[in-house]
Amino acid sequence: MFARMLVLRFPKEVVDKPIVTNLVRNYNLSFNILKAQIFPRKEGLMVLELRGNRKDYEKGLKYLKDIGVKVESIAQGIRRDEDKCYQCGACTAVCPTGALHIRRPEMAVLFESERCSACELCVKTCPARAMIVMFDRKVELEEDVA
Ligand code: SF4
Ligand code: SF4
Repeated sequence: MFARMLVLRFPKEVVDKPIVTNLVRNYNLSFNILKAQIFPRKEGLMVLELRGNRKDYEKGLKYLKDIGVKVESIAQGIRRDEDKCYQCGACTAVCPTGALHIRRPEMAVLFESERCSACELCVKTCPARAMIVMFDRKVELEEDVA
């Protein structure tokens, strides 16, 4: 499963089209919309997490770009503060992509950043606050979606 948090900017010419529905129907993707500002005949903005098979995801992204939707990635990534992590394993129960997982038999909690979708579930769950999100467009997004 591949997942990314994205900002989609819709030009006014396509804002009325069923674009997200097409991503589901034609590219087998699923989504979770976090914010949306869509108005008829105006430029629209949507913040969503897009999930699916890696190849389907790439085809879906190409579809978006081909119809003029500007796609930006929100998060630079998540990092783990190794000094704070005490290997409790709580984060592995909520991680949807398997980026955080337990290696047996030593029961080590591993973090593979390349599998991380920056969903932030582990950030809220970690009792040690060891998982840290680095946003690249945080300020602009907060202004846009307020
Ligand atoms: S943000 Fe945390 S819970 Fe979400 S995919 Fe990344 S490691 Fe897993
Ligand atoms: S929940 Fe936090 S402290 Fe526990 S294993 Fe995960 S990152 Fe480490």
